[in-house]
Amino acid sequence: MSAELDNAGKSVTVIGGGVAGMSAACALAEVGLRVQLVERRGYLGGRASSYLHPGVNEVIDNCQHVLFGCCTNLVGFYRRIGVAEKLHWTRDMTMIEPDGRRSRLGPFEIGRWGLPAPLHGTPSLMRARAFSLADKLALGRAFRAMMRPGALDHSSETLGDWLRRHKQTRGAMDRFWRLVVASALNADIENIAVPYAAKVIRELFMNSADAGAMGMSTVPLSELYAGAERYLAGRGSRVFYNSNVEALNWDEGSRKWSIETRNGTLSSEYTVVALPFEAARKLLAKMPAADGAGALMAKIEKHEHWPLCSVHLWFDREITNLPHAVLLDREIHWLYNKSKLQPWRKLTGSYVELVVSASRSFAALSREQAIEHSVCELAEFFPTVKEAKLEKAALVKEVRATFGVPPGIDAARPDSVSPWPQLFLAGDWTNTGWPSTMESAARSGHLAAEALTNAAGAAQMFLLPDLKPKGLMRFV
Ligand SMILES: Cc1cc2nc3c(=O)[nH]c(=O)nc-3n(C[C@H](O)[C@H](O)[C@H](O)COP(=O)(O)OP(=O)(O)OC[C@H]3O[C@@H](n4cnc5c(N)ncnc54)[C@H](O)[C@@H]3O)c2cc1C
Repeated sequence: MSAELDNAGKSVTVIGGGVAGMSAACALAEVGLRVQLVERRGYLGGRASSYLHPGVNEVIDNCQHVLFGCCTNLVGFYRRIGVAEKLHWTRDMTMIEPDGRRSRLGPFEIGRWGLPAPLHGTPSLMRARAFSLADKLALGRAFRAMMRPGALDHSSETLGDWLRRHKQTRGAMDRFWRLVVASALNADIENIAVPYAAKVIRELFMNSADAGAMGMSTVPLSELYAGAERYLAGRGSRVFYNSNVEALNWDEGSRKWSIETRNGTLSSEYTVVALPFEAARKLLAKMPAADGAGALMAKIEKHEHWPLCSVHLWFDREITNLPHAVLLDREIHWLYNKSKLQPWRKLTGSYVELVVSASRSFAALSREQAIEHSVCELAEFFPTVKEAKLEKAALVKEVRATFGVPPGIDAARPDSVSPWPQLFLAGDWTNTGWPSTMESAARSGHLAAEALTNAAGAAQMFLLPDLKPKGLMRFV
């Protein structure tokens, strides 16, 4: 991977400074291409970024982003740019009921000894008071059916139909499938293809305790990407900020692309378009005619967005000592205790972030309604909230947060090779097999970089392999 390409003077423009664009840019810079990373905004990160929120005068993430041990390409990208040690990892998930009763899910471990996968999580599930015995048996049945890789790959069923067919109880539906799995995929169960849910179950709960470990950044997300900018600068490459790309033109004579940005024109031999699907559609619609361009546009049309909202609350005191929790039976789903996860903030009170996944009704609330509703629900889980003073609050609505993964969506996810010469596609929505996540974005960047070096006649491997299943899962 570290071998330099014989590429002196060869240049590539990567359009879009999200995780997909950054991972492609850094991989290509590593093998000697001169990279121009062009970003519309004044900072990197795209849908996974942070900024100074003027209303609360704090640097906040647009939303808490979590990754898992199975996100090998994202972790590989963080390692490449030297920021992997800024992640905090945990193996435990605490579920809380509105009366405050807690259940812990996570691997059974005593010191370095634990049960082999996929049994590592069984003791905590059996002890979890959030689920009745009937719920636990139903979950066990469904996990078994989803265990074998490939078994459901060609299923065209929705998760909702599949769960009904597998006789899931109300508790299992509401407290596990809707809350944990559907919110990880950020859609409702009637709009999720079974293979994507099965992938989540296998990776997070069955393959190994390492694959299911949850990672969170201990610094604002944009601080991670300072590593990417340094990495590029150290290799003769650079980032162009505030440079919306408006058009791309191909010159057959010089075999180069000219890239028209708001601030002027750039040129390069190669181009990687690392944009979300709607921005890719807008740009590619203005491209010269090419075989397969119509089919690509038809694929893009099939994609749909789902919203995600986060409510950021600053209290005058600590309301819980838990670093994070899953909140059951209410509209708020996930709690992240940022004061614990980011102690450098040195707050006298506390800062918590609540995440509401895939809820179009919550996204329709006004700022005041959303904050009031969230604080009321939070008080049901943590009574201290009733006495605490809310010092400031912010609501971040991301209406176009993630793309949906309904049955049939794989046919609408294009490969990195595009219909145009020397132009490649990346972005979480392209053909990675992963749902809308930072891992999918990092994979797409690595795949586009591989396709580009292949076309340049010096194929390189950037895609990092999946974590190998452990324990008994090795034999499944
Ligand atoms: C609220 C929220 C919560 C999420 N939570 C998680 C999570 O917990 N875990 C997880 O793994 N994933 C999560 N995701 C999904 C994850 O953020 C995305 O899958 C990933 O960041 C997508 O990266 P990308 O590079 O493909 O696209 P983007 O991040 O959208 O990057 C595209 C970039 O292109 C730029 N751009 C657009 N048009 C142009 C143009 N014409 N010229 C130049 N630049 C342009 C944009 O400004 C942007 O920076 C979440 C997303 C949101 C919004």
